Amino acid sequence: MSDCLFCKIAKGEIPSQTVYSDDKVVVFKDINPKAAVHLLMIPREHIASLNEVGAGHDALLAHMMRLLPRLAAEQGLRDGFRTIINTGKGGGQVVFHLHAHLLGGASLPGFE
Ligand code: 5GP
Ligand code: ZN
Repeated sequence: MSDCLFCKIAKGEIPSQTVYSDDKVVVFKDINPKAAVHLLMIPREHIASLNEVGAGHDALLAHMMRLLPRLAAEQGLRDGFRTIINTGKGGGQVVFHLHAHLLGGASLPGFE
């Protein structure tokens, strides 16, 4: 999608603080961090949200889920981490390109 912010970040057309990338995903620092560590993981493919995920995305989703603990460990999150995927306006999604938030560190609040 040509007018999608995260597609532009994935292509390098908008700068981001990238911490990991491969042929399937890009991981970068959230511009407005809500915790000491706040990363966003996006697929290179434009998928608007979990609502648009299909069976053809199974390998991609597994790749994303398996990468999250590796990235958390690389960020030094020895005690654990939080993963959030907001879906749709009612779920608090603002950017309509699928992304997983990876949060952790000292300032991570309780989940109420
Ligand atoms: P959502 O509410 O859609 O789940 O989260 C979108 C996230 O994208 C927010 O946490 C917001 O801070 C982040 N964000 C929005 N625009 C940019 C940007 O241009 N660069 C980066 N690195 N993060 C962004
Ligand atoms: Zn996109």
